[in-house]
Amino acid sequence: MWRFLLFLSALLLWGEDRALAKVEVTLVNRTPVIIEEVYTHQGSIFLALDDVLPALGLSGQWDSSARLYQISTPYGKISVVPGNSSIRLGSQVMTLPQAPRFIDGRLRVDESFVREYLPALLGLSVTYRNLDPQEPPPAPEADSLDLFFARLLEKKGLAPEATIGKVVIDPGHGGDDPGSIGLNGSTEKDVVLEIARQLEKQIKMKLGAERVRLTRDSDYALTLEQRLQPVGEADVAALLQLHAQAASHPETHGLYLFVRPREETRGVSQPAAQGGSMRLAEALRGALTGAGFAVAGILPAPLLPLGRGDLPSVLVELGYLTNADDFERLTRPEEQTRLIQALFEGLKTFVESR
Ligand SMILES: [Zn+2]
Repeated sequence: MWRFLLFLSALLLWGEDRALAKVEVTLVNRTPVIIEEVYTHQGSIFLALDDVLPALGLSGQWDSSARLYQISTPYGKISVVPGNSSIRLGSQVMTLPQAPRFIDGRLRVDESFVREYLPALLGLSVTYRNLDPQEPPPAPEADSLDLFFARLLEKKGLAPEATIGKVVIDPGHGGDDPGSIGLNGSTEKDVVLEIARQLEKQIKMKLGAERVRLTRDSDYALTLEQRLQPVGEADVAALLQLHAQAASHPETHGLYLFVRPREETRGVSQPAAQGGSMRLAEALRGALTGAGFAVAGILPAPLLPLGRGDLPSVLVELGYLTNADDFERLTRPEEQTRLIQALFEGLKTFVESR
């Protein structure tokens, strides 16, 4: 009997500490890179920065005198400090759900850094797959994103310019990917889906059923191409991506709008300050501020699915599910309705002023 118990406890221990077999990281147009040294810590997956950066076409090194890790990027250096969940790029600061930490002698970051935060900060198109458990293989064309974008821009070029277009609302995450986890076991994927659905309803009721599309209307995972499919339809005027954050400190809070630092108009790259995304962000900020919701900032962060093109796109980090006030705003019906109303007003102002 004791042998069996020993075996059982060994099995349980092994189950808790075991490293997952591997993950696959693919930068658009590059060969997939498989990372086999994968650790789980407190339920999160951690990857070594030294393994992750080459997979993303980046480099970096540990600065032993400053005790921080410097990542070199086209926009400057990003400092990663062990134990500190804030990452900095110039004056921009982002809060990671898990602080980077040394495990087995290497500085490791939570997988969301690779699949979400770093791509968002730098405008990289990254596909991330956990190979254990096996995820469904990507759609056949998922690796030919360039072709996809070319078709998408072609279509958009044919759309008459004066038409008041429709809005695509993209609730982040879904299915196996819960996004951030917050108070009372709330998940980002559920919270943003609920807000997206209600926003869709507002637009349908007040502007017309044909004026809005959701990328997902239920709890399922989307490939990048599926997520972007509605964006390729004719007459799309704006893309609104909805997310929420989590932080280890309960007082961390705030609503942020993210836009790409540069966008393309007829093949010419220009600072986003002159483009539609910034005007959309300003319209949203105006409406949110007017409704009493403080917008902590409009930050340049090129977003994973739309790192190129000229479609006005804003990613809204609606708040922190780990902060009591933000959580209430995102989940209590009356507060939620006010927030949705403000997002609607911002979108309406934007599409009608085009
Ligand atoms: Zn998210």
